[in-house]
Amino acid sequence: MIIFSSVNKSFGAHHVLRDLDFVVGRGEKVSIIGPSGSGKTTILRILMTLEHPTSGQVMVDGDELWNLHTGQKPKETKAMRRTRSRIGMVFQQFNLFPHMTALENITEAPIRVQGKSPAQARQQAMELLEMVGLAEHANKRPAKLSGGQQQRVAIARAMALQPAVMLFDEPTSALDPELVGGVLNVIRDLAQTSDMTMLMVTHEMRFAQEISDRVVMFDEGVAIEDGPPQQIFGNPSHERTRRFLQAVL
Ligand code: ATP
Repeated sequence: MIIFSSVNKSFGAHHVLRDLDFVVGRGEKVSIIGPSGSGKTTILRILMTLEHPTSGQVMVDGDELWNLHTGQKPKETKAMRRTRSRIGMVFQQFNLFPHMTALENITEAPIRVQGKSPAQARQQAMELLEMVGLAEHANKRPAKLSGGQQQRVAIARAMALQPAVMLFDEPTSALDPELVGGVLNVIRDLAQTSDMTMLMVTHEMRFAQEISDRVVMFDEGVAIEDGPPQQIFGNPSHERTRRFLQAVL
């Protein structure tokens, strides 16, 4: 379970998250929607420990990831390291290692972080490449792959550490329209077949509606509406959600 309690985040004078209370149950598939700049990516980055809150507490499966008062400096803890190894993230811009093949991108962390043997890691990576439909591209470097293929490798790479939680930050927003479907198919399969907790920031409203147990609408650093997709998309109770959906649908 992921719990944000009274989380604030400011960048200088810019108050991005405001007293955020937000819970995601174990195994839940939750989509985060909302206008640009509302703090959606910042939530994922705090979970990945790529940013720290200015204040507030974040718990992941009983481990305290963050507990900070305003002005307090964050420090690296055991709970943080443990949590980090349980969370995978897929970024907008794929972020693959350019000098490594698809296969090497996937085997790198299992060998280096988990101490797997190269043979074991390769076998698992090939299974993951099979899962994302790219087994025949195993030995290509990212530059030889399309954006959609690179993103599917990035998903396989995140899966290689068998995370309990997967974070997706607008995983299709950097793709040409005809490449979006293949990536969404992979994420849909994961959502339907795995018991991982999945938290996805997305502008793909139809997709969010289809795969999510819950959709959370953010505006100016606050979760203003939270409910099952039929409710958020079919009968939003907040005027801001209505206006946002009218603009994007
Ligand atoms: P988008 O849909 O455009 O990705 P978002 O809802 O994900 O938006 P965030 O990326 O969380 O929004 O950013 C929220 C606000 O914080 C934005 O105004 C952004 O410019 C600002 N911000 C994010 N990261 C930093 C940073 N490292 N330094 C300064 N400002 C930042």
